[in-house]
Amino acid sequence: MKKRESIIVTGGAGYIGSHTIIELLQQTNYDIISIDNYSNSHESANANIEKITGKKINFFNVDLCDKDSLNTQLKDVKDVAGVIHFAAFKSVPESVADPLLYYHNNIESLVNILDLCKQKNITNFIFSSSCSVYGNINDLPVTEDSVLGKAESPYAYTKQVGEQMVSAFTKTIKGFNAVTLRYFNPVGAHISAQIGELPIGPPTSLVPIITRTAIGIIPKMSVHGNDYSTRDGSCVRDYIHVSDIADAHIKALQYVVEGKNKNPLFLFNLGTGKGVTVLEAINSFEKVSGLKLNYEIGPRRGGDVEAIYANNSLAKQELNWEPKYTIDEMMLSAWKWQEYLSKLTTN
Ligand code: UDP
Repeated sequence: MKKRESIIVTGGAGYIGSHTIIELLQQTNYDIISIDNYSNSHESANANIEKITGKKINFFNVDLCDKDSLNTQLKDVKDVAGVIHFAAFKSVPESVADPLLYYHNNIESLVNILDLCKQKNITNFIFSSSCSVYGNINDLPVTEDSVLGKAESPYAYTKQVGEQMVSAFTKTIKGFNAVTLRYFNPVGAHISAQIGELPIGPPTSLVPIITRTAIGIIPKMSVHGNDYSTRDGSCVRDYIHVSDIADAHIKALQYVVEGKNKNPLFLFNLGTGKGVTVLEAINSFEKVSGLKLNYEIGPRRGGDVEAIYANNSLAKQELNWEPKYTIDEMMLSAWKWQEYLSKLTTN
């Protein structure tokens, strides 16, 4: 009988990691080894994943920058079919304020997890990247062939470097397959409303700031600039539901595990292909929640690109993937998650 294989998910308690584990448990027969140090996530996510899926996961509290701890704690792990590497810091403004934190954490953790793949002969690797690697780009929508611009933030730079590391490493190991996924703006929450985005400390991303403002945790939010050359002056992003992103990971994993990839390294844009301004996102939220959001127009935020959205044809064609959720559904799911959280704290 074939041994049951596992998938290692780093950052498994985090926002995209937790949604991806749910999809893995629901769509595949793999056992899950989740690694997280809870630096920007909550251990309670593990129990919520198990509750939603009715399945158990193995989780390890490991800082991926601590190579000795990683190797010791995973010493007995074998039969791993692949690694999905999410664990990283991801805030543009935080990276502008503390670049060394980002260079250290995001790069060193990647070195150590690739080294673990080498030691354990793990030959399938999915890497979380970001559309921020494109920088400010004139030709929209961006395709995977677009020439990368200057990284606008240290965070974006760590993703550019990370992609190059994965590419260089892939060339050194025969039979090693990697898929780099460039996320646009993942938002929203699982349909159960029991898993969602829950950063430690104040959020910096737009949608959690919107929902926290609506519930009254944040008194007033700011739109970071309305003097960009866009249809209403606010920045344009390609918001995509986190469960659509999670689903793409399952398809990317199956793509390499089943040997459908024509090259050892592939990269895909994960977006809906639709650009939405900050003010349009706010309007969508107000429509689905029935609430008036308390916001003002503020100055531009350092490190922001003006507009970016994806050409997602390659992922659709190669992975047979189709994002399902509309912007209104994304906002409604984020709002239901915020309401769930506020019930937890008031009970
Ligand atoms: N944004 C905003 N107010 C906020 C937070 C974000 O206007 O309180 C804007 C931000 O300047 C950017 C967009 O919302 O134009 C998306 O920002 P987010 O941090 O969610 O994602 P990013 O694209 O920076 O990774």
